[in-house]
Amino acid sequence: MRVGEGFVDYETLVARSSGVCGSILPDPRQSIACIPEILDESLSGSDAHSAAIVLGVDGLSWESARELGADVVHPLTAVFPSTSVAAWITATSGLDVADHGIVGPVCQHPSIPPGRVWNMFRGRHYGFDDDWQRDGVPTTHILGPWPTIFARLSGRGVVSRVHLGDISTMPGAWTDALVRGATHVIQPRYRWSVIRDAPALIASTTIAEVDDSLRRSVGRPTLIWIHVNLDEHVHYSGYDSSFRTALQSISRAARRWADAGSEVLLHSDHGQTRTTCSNRLAQAWAQVESPVFCESPAGGAGRVRWLYTRPGAAAEVRAILADVDAPGLIVGSRDDLIGILGPVAEVLPDSDAIVLATEREFPLVDRVYRFEHGSLTKSEMVVPLALWHR
Ligand SMILES: [Zn+2]
Repeated sequence: MRVGEGFVDYETLVARSSGVCGSILPDPRQSIACIPEILDESLSGSDAHSAAIVLGVDGLSWESARELGADVVHPLTAVFPSTSVAAWITATSGLDVADHGIVGPVCQHPSIPPGRVWNMFRGRHYGFDDDWQRDGVPTTHILGPWPTIFARLSGRGVVSRVHLGDISTMPGAWTDALVRGATHVIQPRYRWSVIRDAPALIASTTIAEVDDSLRRSVGRPTLIWIHVNLDEHVHYSGYDSSFRTALQSISRAARRWADAGSEVLLHSDHGQTRTTCSNRLAQAWAQVESPVFCESPAGGAGRVRWLYTRPGAAAEVRAILADVDAPGLIVGSRDDLIGILGPVAEVLPDSDAIVLATEREFPLVDRVYRFEHGSLTKSEMVVPLALWHR
């Protein structure tokens, strides 16, 4: 099979996947859940002696991928919620969100004490009394295990070298589940806390790490997978010139790797879209996300958040949020959202008060962010799969 055989173009995919309120729904035939199958094909048969390289560029939108200069770029749908924790598990296991159940990064969980929520990225749980950025208790349970592409290839004698990049700063059950089965899990060369908002340095360290893995994998079928976190930069600055320059450097390296005999794939987990939070909405959210109305801090996934309301409090909470009249903000119970959006909302937790952005306005966790993701708009949900052929 040729990669992308049977895939449709951007306009056709958008038309086929369109839902209500400008939403794009995960496509059953052309989504990031197809990536493991594509890699399996790339590393089997007559070409099995060379390397396949996967550049997992976090936060790269479909629009920004146009300047990659790849041999071909296919559109894929992301998952809902369109967040990293949900999407990377799908992209490495092939499982839909309904199957792996990761809707976070923040949610209640049966394995953590009541009154607290678990932040999967930070590997910690916290309650109302904690500062969520600093405090919290490490979680010890496991997630999955799910059948990752790394475990699958290992069963066929293919070595996988997984470069964690910024994921190295998020140790815990989620990261363990993501890289399960990898032959080598490689820590980054530089401190990500230093380079996280420096796209040029992110590009150069990415290229150096892949070059190093290529040298170590000569003559053996190898999958080199690297996480490239440009997402944080986009949260603050959008798809600006430094972002584009970094992407062009990575693209030139991809061309070089392909010319030297590797199959190179680049894809992302979700895009981002401009997001704002008015003072009125921030105040309303601060009022309802409190021990007066809720059993624990809110859960959420970027531009979709949910409250764990106390018995009898939901109607008042929804009324307070709806009263802000934020443009495009859906406020309702899980059943309400299923009624509006259809089965895609069935993955959401059983909350009586969920908010979801369909336009710019949203109660942001971090109001310094200018771009955010998690919801179902086109910018968040359509992502690129770029290929450089040998
Ligand atoms: Zn992401």
